Amino acid sequence: MKFSIIGGGLVGSLLGIVLKKKNFEVEIFEKRSDVRQNPEEKGRSINMALSDRGWLALQKAGINESVLAHAIPMYGRMIHAIDGTQTFQAYGENDQAIYSISRNLLTQLLISEAEKIGVAYSFNQKCIDIDLKDKHLLFEQYNTDELSKHNYDVLVGTDGAFSEVRTVLSKTDRFNYHQWYLKHGYKELHIPANANGTHKIDKNALHIWPRGNFMLIALPNMDGSFTCTLFLPYEGENSFEKLFEPSQIHEFFNKYFQDAISLMPTLLEDFEHNPTASLINVSCFPWSYKDSVLLMGDAAHSIVPFYGQGMNAGFEDVSVFDEMLDLNFEGFNQLFKAFEKDRKPNADAIAQMALDNFVEMSEKVADHKFLLRKKIDALLHEKYKKAWIPQYTLVTFSPEVSYAEAQKRGEIQALILDKILNINNIENVWQQIDYQDYIVQL
Ligand code: FAD
Repeated sequence: MKFSIIGGGLVGSLLGIVLKKKNFEVEIFEKRSDVRQNPEEKGRSINMALSDRGWLALQKAGINESVLAHAIPMYGRMIHAIDGTQTFQAYGENDQAIYSISRNLLTQLLISEAEKIGVAYSFNQKCIDIDLKDKHLLFEQYNTDELSKHNYDVLVGTDGAFSEVRTVLSKTDRFNYHQWYLKHGYKELHIPANANGTHKIDKNALHIWPRGNFMLIALPNMDGSFTCTLFLPYEGENSFEKLFEPSQIHEFFNKYFQDAISLMPTLLEDFEHNPTASLINVSCFPWSYKDSVLLMGDAAHSIVPFYGQGMNAGFEDVSVFDEMLDLNFEGFNQLFKAFEKDRKPNADAIAQMALDNFVEMSEKVADHKFLLRKKIDALLHEKYKKAWIPQYTLVTFSPEVSYAEAQKRGEIQALILDKILNINNIENVWQQIDYQDYIVQL
């Protein structure tokens, strides 16, 4: 039995490794050229936060060690107030961290690993149509525009948020599909390394400049630089449409990100050169067609990046599918149905939590009442280890708890925290309260 995978990005390549290790024949078609031959411009790395769900999937595939060598741990958020004051907020306990890793490098590592064990890649092959009945694919060769036909047994679409495989499935009966764009877009910016290659700001933190309706974030790179992302509405008072002239850009950064501007010598050229990209949310169902086609990763569920979980959720898809392959299903139709039934509620849960987290990252982290809430949340976890686990910890550091369960538990805990925060003089008494009753309520 052969698996044909459309999209040799992060999720497709990891899936290729897992399937090959199960002795399936695997071929991957990727529309772009081989990233290993086109390394990104130095210092222009786009990086991602990799957390425990992603690590678990990489570990099961046996490649966590090689990835770890290229990742930087971030133990918490470093909040940059408008006056330049920096405050550190730990993500979890002691050594709990999320890891910054170059997306390009991670893709390269996965492709090399997949090829090493016998996964066949065809680059520059853009899938432009699928005949679901006759089970064949139509490709357009990048550069030459040459067309070719290819048969498949089982097809997996890991071709991202604008999936061609999903587009074809969307024309089948009773396929539900919903996509919408956020009011915000994003732009990558850059903080270079010091002359001696060290980082200009704390490299073991995810830096956030929260400004209410918009924010700037920065993740460290191995070469001493940081990749920054400005999330800003397309329209309105503070928005991309108001930032055209260098003087407007400079004035905006000077007003809202004064401590960052001095770290960004190429701000104006980066702002002009780098595209403003949109943020899309995609939800669809079912994720499969009969016993021959399945969607995974962003092709099935594209979410906004504010929980740092899109890739992690896609990697978790792969590890759940890997486990399910060992169960006794009567054919792929049954397996695909079980897979989508298990994963869809989790994809919906993380999609919603990611949307909610924008308000937390861009606004609440700077609010003193929210910080007190976080302290009580952490205290309750310290006192009642298993009963009370902060939602961030459940999502980020607890792969044994599903996203849907993390969402549900987080909502209940939030209601209890609302009650606690209403206690008279809570600012001064929060460390003396006997929280036992609240735990009973939980
Ligand atoms: P993709 O990475 O999009 O890969 C799809 C692949 O398919 C690509 O290689 C593409 O070239 C190929 N392809 C597409 N169409 C075709 C076709 N027709 N034929 C052949 N090949 C095709 N997630 C995290 O977990 N942590 C983060 O910190 C994080 N930060 C993010 C920040 C931003 C600004 C954004 C936008 C996203 C972020 N994400 C993050 C989400 C993450 O990038 C995605 O969830 C992840 O890339 C999905 O992987 P994928 O393999 O499913 O899709």
